[in-house]
Amino acid sequence: MAAAAPPVVPSSPTPSRWATSAADEALRRCDELAECSETPQGLLRRALTPAMREAHVKTRAWAEAAGLDVRIDALGNLRARREGPAGSRTLLIGSHLDTVRDAGRYDGPLGVVIGLAVAEALRHESLPFGLEIAGISDEEGVRFGRPFLGSRALAGTIDADDLALRDADGVTLAEAIARFEGGGSVEACAITPAELLAYLEVHIEQGPVLESLDQPIGVVSGIAGHVWRSYVLEGRAGHAGTTPMGLRRDALAAAAELALFVERLATETPELVATVGQLVASPGGNNVIAGLAEVQVDVRSVDASVLAKALATLDAEAKALASRRGVRMSASDRFASPPVVCAPALRNTLEACVRRVGLDAHTLASGAGHDGRILATLGPVGMLFVRSPEGLSHHPDERVHATDVALALDVTLDFVRALGARIASEGRLS
Ligand SMILES: [Zn+2]
Repeated sequence: MAAAAPPVVPSSPTPSRWATSAADEALRRCDELAECSETPQGLLRRALTPAMREAHVKTRAWAEAAGLDVRIDALGNLRARREGPAGSRTLLIGSHLDTVRDAGRYDGPLGVVIGLAVAEALRHESLPFGLEIAGISDEEGVRFGRPFLGSRALAGTIDADDLALRDADGVTLAEAIARFEGGGSVEACAITPAELLAYLEVHIEQGPVLESLDQPIGVVSGIAGHVWRSYVLEGRAGHAGTTPMGLRRDALAAAAELALFVERLATETPELVATVGQLVASPGGNNVIAGLAEVQVDVRSVDASVLAKALATLDAEAKALASRRGVRMSASDRFASPPVVCAPALRNTLEACVRRVGLDAHTLASGAGHDGRILATLGPVGMLFVRSPEGLSHHPDERVHATDVALALDVTLDFVRALGARIASEGRLS
């Protein structure tokens, strides 16, 4: 059998020597973190679990070696910090340490280890702000079925309803917090808007755009707003042989028509993606006309007006086709989050840093949700994407190119220094 061809690594500018060796170390650390798993086969690391504690032990050691003071907060966020001058704000750099089931090793951890490498490089340089590297405990929402619990603790919005969430074993979030024994109260996790200078996250793209453009890294313009809307269509079940076609109220046929409309609308609308990922029909039999169908639509756009208009168009179409087909229609949202625009001052600085390493500053929107969506409620957010080979993520074969990681390290280090120079001279971001 012929040996597999080595993977093709695209050409890019040469990163600094520091970044090349720091990238190798960062990737080794991602490998080490991937060992911290709840399941022996396939990576799974959820919030407030023994596997997360193991990841904290390793991450703490790296952070302390970089001269940072480490604490684990009540929600299980790892917070590695160096203080700034008295009264200064904090630049937060981070990403999440939790994973999906059967995960890859870079979605989340890469942003944490890049933050640590940059903090280490800056160890003996003074900065006019505090620097905190955050390993956020829960972004994916796998354990409690609700995402962003870690960053929501940082934003101070964890409430009684969250604390009563239960995992698959019946353990509530409140009980998991008590068992994990992070420090302090849930309230003490919070960062105030007055304390936060900015939040920066480096993350794999999780899509094919940068690869298709032959770009190692990209500056994120914003995080798409995102709505899960469920349309329930209620017709009348009946005999598939005896009911004439003209006398049917077929809920599944109505649902299918709606699903195709969703695809057409998104295809024809710039800045919009929409998906019907699930369609449930009942009673469910090949000789029974479906009396009830539910169409679950995922609609996303970085432009709030595009998103709102698309949802209104979908509602109107669902209503029209339901009335034409004699079925009843109702709609409800299971999840809704508005778009977040990355702060122009941070975006411009990131773009300048990307150009300084010899790349075009390509900007792109994030279709996936990120902790920045939550932290944007506290202050300006910037994001840098690293190319995902084959656009692959949430998959054990998820990869990154070492050179891309090195370029992201050069950009991130330059970004922190540029921000430092600006705060030192102007006292503010823009
Ligand atoms: Zn992620």
